[in-house]
Amino acid sequence: MADSTTTAAPPTVEAHGAKIPAIGLGTWRAGMDVVAEAVEAALKCGYRHIDTAIAYANEEGVGEGLRSGGVPRDEIFVTTKIPPDQIGAGALERAAEGSLKRLKLDQVDLLLIHWPNPSIPLKESIRALCAAKREGLTRHIGVSNFPVALLDEAVHRADEPIVTNQCEYHPRLDQTMLIDSCRRHGIAFTSYAPLGRTQILDDPVVTAIASRLQRTPAQVILRWHIQQPMVVAIPKSQSPARIKENFGVFDFELPPEDMAALSALARPDARLVNPSWAPRWD
Ligand code: NAP
Repeated sequence: MADSTTTAAPPTVEAHGAKIPAIGLGTWRAGMDVVAEAVEAALKCGYRHIDTAIAYANEEGVGEGLRSGGVPRDEIFVTTKIPPDQIGAGALERAAEGSLKRLKLDQVDLLLIHWPNPSIPLKESIRALCAAKREGLTRHIGVSNFPVALLDEAVHRADEPIVTNQCEYHPRLDQTMLIDSCRRHGIAFTSYAPLGRTQILDDPVVTAIASRLQRTPAQVILRWHIQQPMVVAIPKSQSPARIKENFGVFDFELPPEDMAALSALARPDARLVNPSWAPRWD
């Protein structure tokens, strides 16, 4: 199976001045005991985009991995996220400062509102997010888990550009409406749980394409993500071999019929991430 990687700068998705590397390393459930090594392994095989969050309780380890990876800071795109109970005025800024302290960074590249919170006015949290950017805590701002109407409102209220909406996406979950709305706003769509948390890797449609193209199922699915305009994917792995495998997606293309066959795997009730605080999805 192919596992080719590259040390050249990986392809990026550009949105309102942000250049977001098309494949990033997800770190949810990569605990403090393993995350530094995972981040270091990722940087060493060419990743330039790392995704963490306050809620993952691993920012110190991510920071350690960033320092040991040997890649200049300005070549790495680091994202963190503020939990929904800390997105009010003042609280958001304090939370972002805490992240920077744990990561040992002067600023992150992207700061996201992790989930909308109906008990804090969106106007207030978007204003706080924009202020965090102006104060230099982050280079860019964005949102996560925002359905179309909330995204429209966030973009409308923001006086700094929103550059991404990070949401669940994999071949079993149709996100056409949300991705279209991101494109209308010129913003990137960042796919989380891009591998469907492995549940889709043994789907016969996926395995057939993989064996025909001499790729792994994960590579086929990640290629499907990044071959869609404005889409970025952040697969999580804490295994150096799988981290490398997941980055080997820039030297092949899926023909249109394979793209369509993978998209046709969408079905109702495929959402994997749906906590009690989730918004009403589109
Ligand atoms: P995922 O990336 O779809 O799947 C991760 C799982 O796949 C892990 O069990 C991993 O195990 C396994 N895996 C990775 N590469 C593989 C490969 N090549 N072959 C076989 N198995 C493989 O799911 P996710 O972690 O939920 O999502 C990715 C990232 O998105 C998260 O880590 C997080 O950064 C972000 N996220 C954001 C939100 C949000 O609300 N904004 C929600 C969920 C996730 P190993 O580690 O053992 O390889």
